[in-house]
Amino acid sequence: MILQKRYIRPRIQALETASLVSVMGKSIQILVIEDEEAIREGLIDVLVFHGYAVDSAATGPEGLEKAQTGKFDLILLDIMLPGMDGYEICDRIRAEDRDQPIIMLTAKTSDEEIIQGLKLGADDYVSKPFSIAQLVLRIEAVLRRTQAGREQLRTIDLGTITIDVANLSGRNGHEEITFTKREIELLSYLAQNSDRPISREELLLKVWGYARNLDIETRTVDIHIAKLRRKIETDPKEPQNLITVRGAGYRLVTDGQGHVADDSY
Ligand code: CA
Repeated sequence: MILQKRYIRPRIQALETASLVSVMGKSIQILVIEDEEAIREGLIDVLVFHGYAVDSAATGPEGLEKAQTGKFDLILLDIMLPGMDGYEICDRIRAEDRDQPIIMLTAKTSDEEIIQGLKLGADDYVSKPFSIAQLVLRIEAVLRRTQAGREQLRTIDLGTITIDVANLSGRNGHEEITFTKREIELLSYLAQNSDRPISREELLLKVWGYARNLDIETRTVDIHIAKLRRKIETDPKEPQNLITVRGAGYRLVTDGQGHVADDSY
């Protein structure tokens, strides 16, 4: 089955209702931003059929507004849209939420469109017309990647120090260390992204939830980093665990990858 302009599927009221139903106690929510009704309705039908909860928008501004609620596990985003194009929507979503999974729907296999979309932070793209099988595979792949990243850390291992995330505490040999909730959130974010340095701006956005940073707020990050170093470094002036990568940000040097909690219920 190929979704194209000419493919017009009758609107089925029952599916609209079905989209609100959760699947196996855990509904994955997808937002479809697409102005062409036939494609939009076709996508809704297919996604609902595959067990996803679906919402949709037919214009750029409506799509952005829904996207900014932040409740969607994935956004399927068309590029040519009335009111605001998909690039701008992608850019504005990314400014607030670096991790929002987005798949761009490109009108044709145009390298420029694809590169532009990926540059702005789309996770993947699908070129129209696309097969349902291909689209569903792409959706599943993006969801697998992003859901894995959301698994909660249980402990963080830093050489001789083991940190118990849930209990806001740590142990360095016989020495007990206590942390504030914010410090643990900061450590957890750094531990989950220990493969790269994290900028102050990203920490403000992801740990503190500030969408826009001011100079005074970036100092907040430095103050917390200094406090953490006094707790987890033998010599806070020569950090071995929470290091500064010049010009890039802070990086936590973890012992292995830490232990990720099982994603079981
Ligand atoms: Ca369009």
